[in-house]
Amino acid sequence: MTTFSQNTVTALKEAVTGSVVLPDDASYNELRQIWNATIDRHPAIIVQCAEAEDVPRALHFAREQGLEVSVRGAGHNIAGNAVCEGGIMIDMSNMTQVRVDAVKKIAYVQPGAGWVILTRPPSSMVWPRHWASTPLPVPPV
Ligand SMILES: Cc1cc2nc3c(=O)[nH]c(=O)nc-3n(C[C@H](O)[C@H](O)[C@H](O)COP(=O)(O)OP(=O)(O)OC[C@H]3O[C@@H](n4cnc5c(N)ncnc54)[C@H](O)[C@@H]3O)c2cc1C
Repeated sequence: MTTFSQNTVTALKEAVTGSVVLPDDASYNELRQIWNATIDRHPAIIVQCAEAEDVPRALHFAREQGLEVSVRGAGHNIAGNAVCEGGIMIDMSNMTQVRVDAVKKIAYVQPGAGWVILTRPPSSMVWPRHWASTPLPVPPV
């Protein structure tokens, strides 16, 4: 298992807004679990991103340390590609915000958002009123 110097980890913790989790940390085993419970991989380090800027910070660390990278969105991929063995898992599962530009009719969805969030938006989210009453277009067969 790859280990890191204390200084290296401290620098990463100071750089990211989210959290940095190592195998000895209490939350490690929970965070490396994904939807497919048969996947049992052990990243050397997990960066739980809190904002988009945390991703390049984690990638920079990965390059410096020569680590294999896996990227976790919501963690539902059946093959478990979100979790690597011995590398860095860039975990975006806490990034679940959805923002709708009603004028452009574009939804901006963070990588951790799953269908539960998309189909049941939080009450604070304002959907254009007409969307609710307009039937979805039926794709051609
Ligand atoms: C119960 C169930 C039902 C499903 N139903 C459907 C369905 O109806 N239709 C369908 O199409 N699929 C379905 N899937 C499959 C699932 O939607 C896909 O596997 C999808 O990739 C999961 O997204 P995720 O963000 O959870 O991926 P993750 O497991 O987090 O990641 C999957 C892959 O994408 C990469 N990745 C994730 N986020 C990013 C990012 N932001 N940038 C770059 N790479 C990224 C990861 O590294 C990994 O390789 C289902 C899966 C389950 C478990």
